[in-house]
Amino acid sequence: MLRVTLEDADSGRPAAEVSFSARRGTSPAALGGGMAAPTVLVVEDEEHLLQALCSSLVQEGYQVKTAQDGEQGLEVARSARPDLVILDVRLPTMDGREVCRSIRKESAVPILMLTAGDHEIDRVAGLEMGADGYVSKPFSMRELMARVKAMLCRSRMTPNHAPGDWPKVLRAGDLEMDLTSHAAKLQGQPLDLKPKEFDLLALLVSHPGQAFTREQVLQQLWGYDYAGDTRAVDVHIRWLREKIEEDPSHPRRISTVRGVGYRFEG
Ligand code: CA
Repeated sequence: MLRVTLEDADSGRPAAEVSFSARRGTSPAALGGGMAAPTVLVVEDEEHLLQALCSSLVQEGYQVKTAQDGEQGLEVARSARPDLVILDVRLPTMDGREVCRSIRKESAVPILMLTAGDHEIDRVAGLEMGADGYVSKPFSMRELMARVKAMLCRSRMTPNHAPGDWPKVLRAGDLEMDLTSHAAKLQGQPLDLKPKEFDLLALLVSHPGQAFTREQVLQQLWGYDYAGDTRAVDVHIRWLREKIEEDPSHPRRISTVRGVGYRFEG
Protein backbone atom coordinates (compact mmCIF):
# COMPACT_ATOMS: atom_id res chain seq x y z
CA MET A 1 0.00 0.00 0.00
CA LEU A 2 1.19 3.47 -0.83
CA ARG A 3 0.06 6.54 1.09
CA VAL A 4 -0.19 9.77 -0.81
CA THR A 5 -0.90 13.19 0.61
CA LEU A 6 -2.84 15.31 -1.81
CA GLU A 7 -2.16 18.98 -1.48
CA ASP A 8 -4.71 21.65 -1.93
CA ALA A 9 -3.58 23.51 -5.06
CA ASP A 10 -4.07 26.96 -3.64
CA SER A 11 -2.80 26.88 -0.09
CA GLY A 12 -0.40 23.98 -0.40
CA ARG A 13 -1.98 22.49 2.73
CA PRO A 14 -2.65 18.79 2.73
CA ALA A 15 -6.25 18.37 1.64
CA ALA A 16 -6.50 14.63 1.77
CA GLU A 17 -4.41 11.60 2.42
CA VAL A 18 -5.24 8.56 0.40
CA SER A 19 -3.97 5.04 0.18
CA PHE A 20 -3.82 2.97 -2.91
CA SER A 21 -2.45 -0.34 -3.89
CA ALA A 22 0.52 -0.14 -6.21
CA ARG A 23 -0.29 -3.49 -7.82
CA ARG A 24 -3.03 -1.91 -9.89
CA GLY A 25 -0.15 -0.37 -11.79
CA THR A 26 -1.95 2.69 -13.02
CA SER A 27 -0.31 5.42 -11.03
CA PRO A 28 -0.10 8.76 -12.85
CA ALA A 29 3.55 8.07 -13.59
CA ALA A 30 2.76 4.67 -15.08
CA LEU A 31 -0.06 6.03 -17.21
CA GLY A 32 1.61 9.26 -18.16
CA GLY A 33 4.82 7.83 -19.53
CA GLY A 34 6.25 11.32 -19.44
CA MET A 35 3.05 12.89 -20.70
CA ALA A 36 0.82 14.66 -18.24
CA ALA A 37 -2.32 12.86 -17.12
CA PRO A 38 -5.63 14.73 -17.14
CA THR A 39 -6.26 16.74 -13.98
CA VAL A 40 -9.50 16.23 -12.11
CA LEU A 41 -10.66 18.70 -9.48
CA VAL A 42 -12.85 17.24 -6.73
CA VAL A 43 -14.91 19.70 -4.68
CA GLU A 44 -16.48 17.77 -1.81
CA ASP A 45 -16.84 18.67 1.86
CA GLU A 46 -17.38 15.14 3.16
CA GLU A 47 -13.90 14.04 4.15
CA HIS A 48 -14.36 10.28 3.70
CA LEU A 49 -15.98 10.69 0.31
CA LEU A 50 -13.31 13.13 -0.83
CA GLN A 51 -10.63 10.63 0.15
CA ALA A 52 -12.41 7.76 -1.59
CA LEU A 53 -12.80 9.80 -4.77
CA CYS A 54 -9.17 10.91 -4.73
CA SER A 55 -7.99 7.38 -4.15
CA SER A 56 -10.00 6.01 -7.08
CA LEU A 57 -8.98 8.83 -9.41
CA VAL A 58 -5.30 8.39 -8.55
CA GLN A 59 -5.65 4.65 -9.18
CA GLU A 60 -7.13 5.43 -12.58
CA GLY A 61 -4.09 7.53 -13.37
CA TYR A 62 -5.46 11.04 -13.04
CA GLN A 63 -3.84 13.98 -11.34
CA VAL A 64 -6.09 15.17 -8.56
CA LYS A 65 -6.75 18.58 -7.04
CA THR A 66 -9.13 19.02 -4.15
CA ALA A 67 -11.21 21.62 -2.38
CA GLN A 68 -13.61 21.25 0.54
CA ASP A 69 -15.83 24.25 0.14
CA GLY A 70 -17.35 26.20 -2.73
CA GLU A 71 -15.18 29.30 -2.65
CA GLN A 72 -12.01 27.25 -2.46
CA GLY A 73 -13.35 25.07 -5.28
CA LEU A 74 -13.72 28.07 -7.56
CA GLU A 75 -10.27 29.35 -6.65
CA VAL A 76 -8.63 25.99 -7.33
CA ALA A 77 -10.55 25.65 -10.60
CA ARG A 78 -9.14 28.99 -11.72
CA SER A 79 -5.59 28.29 -10.61
CA ALA A 80 -5.30 24.59 -11.50
CA ARG A 81 -7.37 24.73 -14.71
CA PRO A 82 -8.50 21.12 -14.43
CA ASP A 83 -9.67 18.98 -17.35
CA LEU A 84 -12.77 17.91 -15.44
CA VAL A 85 -14.52 19.01 -12.25
CA ILE A 86 -16.42 16.72 -9.88
CA LEU A 87 -18.59 19.08 -7.88
CA ASP A 88 -20.81 18.36 -4.89
CA VAL A 89 -24.08 20.30 -4.94
CA ARG A 90 -24.21 21.02 -1.22
CA LEU A 91 -21.08 22.78 -0.09
CA PRO A 92 -20.13 25.26 2.63
CA THR A 93 -19.33 28.92 1.80
CA MET A 94 -20.68 28.73 -1.77
CA ASP A 95 -23.33 26.42 -3.14
CA GLY A 96 -22.22 23.90 -5.77
CA ARG A 97 -24.69 25.33 -8.27
CA GLU A 98 -23.18 28.76 -7.85
CA VAL A 99 -19.67 27.34 -8.27
CA CYS A 100 -20.83 25.54 -11.43
CA ARG A 101 -22.37 28.69 -12.84
CA SER A 102 -19.23 30.71 -12.12
CA ILE A 103 -16.91 28.15 -13.70
CA ARG A 104 -19.18 27.91 -16.75
CA LYS A 105 -18.86 31.64 -17.34
CA GLU A 106 -15.12 31.17 -17.76
CA SER A 107 -14.66 27.73 -19.19
CA ALA A 108 -16.21 24.83 -21.05
CA VAL A 109 -14.51 22.34 -18.71
CA PRO A 110 -16.75 19.26 -18.18
CA ILE A 111 -18.53 19.41 -14.82
CA LEU A 112 -19.96 16.32 -13.14
CA MET A 113 -22.24 17.15 -10.23
CA LEU A 114 -22.80 14.96 -7.19
CA THR A 115 -26.35 15.27 -5.93
CA ALA A 116 -27.48 14.40 -2.43
CA GLY A 117 -30.27 12.20 -3.66
CA ASP A 118 -32.28 11.47 -6.72
CA HIS A 119 -34.10 14.74 -6.32
CA GLU A 120 -35.29 16.22 -9.57
CA ILE A 121 -34.63 19.72 -8.31
CA ASP A 122 -30.91 19.06 -8.14
CA ARG A 123 -30.86 17.77 -11.69
CA VAL A 124 -32.86 20.63 -13.12
CA ALA A 125 -30.84 23.20 -11.21
CA GLY A 126 -27.63 21.53 -12.36
CA LEU A 127 -28.68 21.63 -16.00
CA GLU A 128 -29.55 25.27 -15.70
CA MET A 129 -26.15 25.95 -14.22
CA GLY A 130 -24.39 24.34 -17.18
CA ALA A 131 -23.34 21.05 -15.61
CA ASP A 132 -22.61 18.19 -18.02
CA GLY A 133 -23.63 15.25 -15.90
CA TYR A 134 -25.01 14.13 -12.55
CA VAL A 135 -24.43 11.28 -10.21
CA SER A 136 -26.72 10.70 -7.24
CA LYS A 137 -25.30 9.70 -3.89
CA PRO A 138 -24.78 6.95 -2.99
CA PHE A 139 -23.04 5.97 -6.20
CA SER A 140 -20.86 3.12 -7.34
CA MET A 141 -17.25 4.27 -7.60
CA ARG A 142 -16.75 2.11 -10.67
CA GLU A 143 -19.68 3.75 -12.39
CA LEU A 144 -18.43 7.20 -11.45
CA MET A 145 -14.97 6.44 -12.87
CA ALA A 146 -16.61 5.28 -16.10
CA ARG A 147 -18.52 8.56 -16.30
CA VAL A 148 -15.35 10.56 -15.71
CA LYS A 149 -13.55 8.67 -18.45
CA ALA A 150 -16.44 9.07 -20.90
CA MET A 151 -16.73 12.79 -20.21
CA LEU A 152 -13.02 13.31 -20.69
CA CYS A 153 -13.10 11.37 -23.96
CA ARG A 154 -16.05 13.42 -25.14
CA SER A 155 -14.19 16.63 -24.47
CA ARG A 156 -11.26 15.13 -26.36
CA MET A 157 -9.10 15.10 -23.27
CA THR A 158 -6.60 12.34 -23.60
CA PRO A 159 -3.74 11.53 -21.25
CA ASN A 160 -1.57 13.47 -23.69
CA HIS A 161 -3.58 16.59 -23.14
CA ALA A 162 -1.47 19.29 -21.53
CA PRO A 163 -2.65 20.32 -18.08
CA GLY A 164 -3.34 24.02 -17.84
CA ASP A 165 -4.74 23.97 -21.34
CA TRP A 166 -8.14 24.93 -19.96
CA PRO A 167 -10.61 23.94 -22.65
CA LYS A 168 -11.65 27.44 -23.55
CA VAL A 169 -12.42 27.07 -27.22
CA LEU A 170 -15.78 25.65 -28.25
CA ARG A 171 -16.02 24.08 -31.68
CA ALA A 172 -19.03 22.82 -33.57
CA GLY A 173 -18.29 22.06 -37.20
CA ASP A 174 -17.26 25.29 -38.88
CA LEU A 175 -18.18 27.37 -35.84
CA GLU A 176 -15.47 28.29 -33.35
CA MET A 177 -15.83 30.26 -30.12
CA ASP A 178 -12.95 31.41 -27.96
CA LEU A 179 -14.36 31.92 -24.47
CA THR A 180 -11.33 33.87 -23.28
CA SER A 181 -11.18 36.50 -25.98
CA HIS A 182 -14.93 36.37 -26.65
CA ALA A 183 -14.21 35.99 -30.34
CA ALA A 184 -16.26 33.78 -32.62
CA LYS A 185 -15.61 32.60 -36.15
CA LEU A 186 -17.81 30.96 -38.73
CA GLN A 187 -16.08 29.23 -41.64
CA GLY A 188 -12.91 31.02 -40.56
CA GLN A 189 -14.55 34.45 -40.81
CA PRO A 190 -14.96 36.58 -37.66
CA LEU A 191 -18.52 36.77 -36.38
CA ASP A 192 -19.65 40.13 -35.08
CA LEU A 193 -21.62 39.19 -31.96
CA LYS A 194 -22.88 41.42 -29.17
CA PRO A 195 -21.92 40.21 -25.67
CA LYS A 196 -25.32 38.64 -24.94
CA GLU A 197 -25.43 37.01 -28.37
CA PHE A 198 -22.01 35.53 -27.69
CA ASP A 199 -23.08 34.24 -24.27
CA LEU A 200 -26.27 32.75 -25.67
CA LEU A 201 -24.46 31.02 -28.51
CA ALA A 202 -21.77 29.74 -26.11
CA LEU A 203 -24.45 28.34 -23.83
CA LEU A 204 -26.14 26.47 -26.69
CA VAL A 205 -22.94 25.31 -28.40
CA SER A 206 -21.50 23.95 -25.13
CA HIS A 207 -24.57 21.70 -24.82
CA PRO A 208 -25.27 20.39 -28.32
CA GLY A 209 -28.55 18.54 -28.62
CA GLN A 210 -29.86 19.87 -25.31
CA ALA A 211 -33.05 21.91 -25.37
CA PHE A 212 -33.08 25.02 -23.21
CA THR A 213 -36.26 26.72 -22.09
CA ARG A 214 -36.50 30.48 -22.44
CA GLU A 215 -36.52 30.72 -18.63
CA GLN A 216 -33.28 28.74 -18.41
CA VAL A 217 -31.65 31.00 -20.97
CA LEU A 218 -32.85 34.09 -19.12
CA GLN A 219 -31.42 32.80 -15.87
CA GLN A 220 -28.12 31.88 -17.46
CA LEU A 221 -27.65 35.14 -19.32
CA TRP A 222 -29.30 37.68 -17.12
CA GLY A 223 -29.10 35.98 -13.72
CA TYR A 224 -31.61 34.43 -11.39
CA ASP A 225 -33.01 37.68 -10.11
CA TYR A 226 -33.83 39.04 -13.51
CA ALA A 227 -37.57 39.36 -13.79
CA GLY A 228 -37.39 39.92 -17.50
CA ASP A 229 -39.45 39.10 -20.48
CA THR A 230 -38.73 35.76 -22.12
CA ARG A 231 -39.25 37.48 -25.47
CA ALA A 232 -35.77 38.92 -24.99
CA VAL A 233 -34.55 35.38 -25.59
CA ASP A 234 -36.52 35.07 -28.83
CA VAL A 235 -35.11 38.38 -30.04
CA HIS A 236 -31.54 37.31 -29.34
CA ILE A 237 -32.15 33.96 -31.03
CA ARG A 238 -33.43 35.79 -34.10
CA TRP A 239 -30.36 38.02 -34.20
CA LEU A 240 -28.09 35.03 -33.81
CA ARG A 241 -29.82 33.15 -36.59
CA GLU A 242 -29.37 36.11 -38.89
CA LYS A 243 -25.65 35.88 -38.23
CA ILE A 244 -25.00 32.15 -38.26
CA GLU A 245 -27.74 30.55 -40.35
CA GLU A 246 -27.52 30.26 -44.09
CA ASP A 247 -31.29 30.76 -44.26
CA PRO A 248 -32.48 32.36 -40.97
CA SER A 249 -36.10 31.49 -41.73
CA HIS A 250 -35.18 27.81 -42.03
CA PRO A 251 -32.58 27.45 -39.27
CA ARG A 252 -30.42 24.33 -39.25
CA ARG A 253 -28.08 25.15 -36.39
CA ILE A 254 -30.42 26.55 -33.74
CA SER A 255 -33.75 24.72 -33.77
CA THR A 256 -36.96 25.78 -32.12
CA VAL A 257 -38.21 22.99 -29.89
CA ARG A 258 -41.96 23.35 -29.84
CA GLY A 259 -43.31 23.94 -26.34
CA VAL A 260 -39.81 23.99 -24.87
CA GLY A 261 -37.37 26.50 -26.29
CA TYR A 262 -34.21 26.21 -28.34
CA ARG A 263 -31.58 23.63 -29.11
CA PHE A 264 -28.19 23.73 -30.85
CA GLU A 265 -27.98 20.89 -33.33
CA GLY A 266 -24.20 20.64 -33.36
CA1 CA B 1 -21.84 18.14 0.65
